[in-house]
Amino acid sequence: MFDTLSDRLNTVFSRLRGRGALGEQDVRDAMREVRVALLEADVALPVARDFIARVTERAVGQEVLKSVTPGQQVIKIVNDELVAMLGGEEESAGEAPPLNLNVTPPAVVMMVGLQGSGKTTSTAKIAKLLKDKQGKKPLMASLDVNRPAAQEQLAVLGEQADVATLPIVPGQQPVEIAKRAMGAAKLQNYDVLLLDTAGRLHVDEALMAEMKAVAGAADPAEVLLVVDSLTGQDAVNVAQSFSGEVPLTGVVLTRMDGDARGGAALSMRAVTGKPIKFAGTGEKLEAIERFHPGRVADRILGMGDVVSLVEKAAETIDAEDAEALAKKMMAGKFDMNDLRKQLQQMQNMGGLGMLAGMMPGMKKAKAAMAGADMDDKVLVHMDAIIGSMTKKERSHPQLLNAKRKKRVAAGSGTSVQEVNKILKMHQEMGRAMKQIRKMGGLKGLAAMFGG
Ligand code: GDP
Repeated sequence: MFDTLSDRLNTVFSRLRGRGALGEQDVRDAMREVRVALLEADVALPVARDFIARVTERAVGQEVLKSVTPGQQVIKIVNDELVAMLGGEEESAGEAPPLNLNVTPPAVVMMVGLQGSGKTTSTAKIAKLLKDKQGKKPLMASLDVNRPAAQEQLAVLGEQADVATLPIVPGQQPVEIAKRAMGAAKLQNYDVLLLDTAGRLHVDEALMAEMKAVAGAADPAEVLLVVDSLTGQDAVNVAQSFSGEVPLTGVVLTRMDGDARGGAALSMRAVTGKPIKFAGTGEKLEAIERFHPGRVADRILGMGDVVSLVEKAAETIDAEDAEALAKKMMAGKFDMNDLRKQLQQMQNMGGLGMLAGMMPGMKKAKAAMAGADMDDKVLVHMDAIIGSMTKKERSHPQLLNAKRKKRVAAGSGTSVQEVNKILKMHQEMGRAMKQIRKMGGLKGLAAMFGG
């Protein structure tokens, strides 16, 4: 996501940075390039136009052009305006819960969107999030009576997420189902009711009439529009149609893990006037994040998204495990079992591509990894290689002579070269740890990172 846009903007910026003084014309030229980059990333035209106008107005101001670092100032303005375009920092500052559920229970969350946008999956993801992270007791109900098996799909996801779903009564219409769901939620003390409404392939009048009727009957606290960020300009059109007809309170952008050009994400706030509340980042039920305009802007401007990365690590990595591992590393007792655990954690965190995309300065490294065939398959291969070692070999990798390496390669369906690669990786990690010990241990490392 955002890779091309990010590259383009960075080219423009490196030119700006390299200049001591900037004239008004320089800024206008740079903004013309930024505008093209935005349009090529599928940002809606009025949104791009507005953005450029705002940045230009601020950037050609005297205090910017006369400052010692005019290039940096312009970049900062672009950053600020990008954050504003994505929704403004106030929407994620203070970490208030993204959904307004402070109403007499059950708080109804109505999910709307086109078929295939990821609506049902997002419903289950959000329900799970509310249950696991906010201690809510959610109930889900599917109102999709058009698509065969839609209701069953939600029931299956409910089981996976360990979230209750309303029992299916064949033949009932959406408004009736909504009413039944509200009754059941009240009776059984569910505090949040998520309604997964019907989708269509296209926006049409019947769909909008149905959404209005359901909204009228259920009086939702939140109406979330689910849009697929891969559909670019179409997503923008869908958002426009829905926001004129149903009282939206927010947007869920799915498939942010894909390599869409990102324009949908960038336009959504301006087009709907509503905040993007969540971003879907994969097919798994855990693959959903709060949308943070500031962090996304950082990612686009190539500054990386360290905060999300750290949060992800904190969620995935067991603190005790990490400490035990750190101790082992420090004592020089880091063996193949430990390396394997690390690799598995990397995979749990979304694989190499995901990590690379979030780390500062990693865009280039990511390209290099792709070039060197260093993709997630490598993680899987490495795991297979370590799995083919004997217990003894795993704790004493120095035992691996040519004959043993051949056996391990054959056992894991890889090559001796690949086995060597992982042994080298293990050695290098050991060496790095020795360095850290010399620098004063983990405290030294923390100091290096400014901790
Ligand atoms: P609906 O028709 O709108 O209810 O769409 P579904 O929830 O059935 O999703 C359609 C497909 O998209 C499913 O295969 C989902 O697993 C997939 N999907 C949903 N959200 C995401 C996401 O954020 N990332 C990825 N990669 N796939 C997603």
